[in-house]
Amino acid sequence: MNEKTLEELQDEFNSLSRKRMKQIIELEETTKELVGLAEKVYERSPEYVKVVCLSCNGKGTVDTEEGKKIRCQVCQGKCFMWVKRFQEVERANGS
Ligand SMILES: [Zn+2]
Repeated sequence: MNEKTLEELQDEFNSLSRKRMKQIIELEETTKELVGLAEKVYERSPEYVKVVCLSCNGKGTVDTEEGKKIRCQVCQGKCFMWVKRFQEVERANGS
């Protein structure tokens, strides 16, 4: 029989766990990079305007019903948000 020993199974488990952890870290790094790039795209784009977050009013946190402060889910605590210009405004400015 070619059954794996307990040690072999544990090694395999640990190896796969390490691989998974490495991938999670890589995913987080890629996500951070993407968020940073999106920020640059918004800054360059004439279509978008940076405004004070409409949800937390620029505080970065919101109060829950229990009276706790939690990070604003809309701006992720950044206190601002990017909004797309209303087209009428673009036309009015453009002529
Ligand atoms: Zn906010």
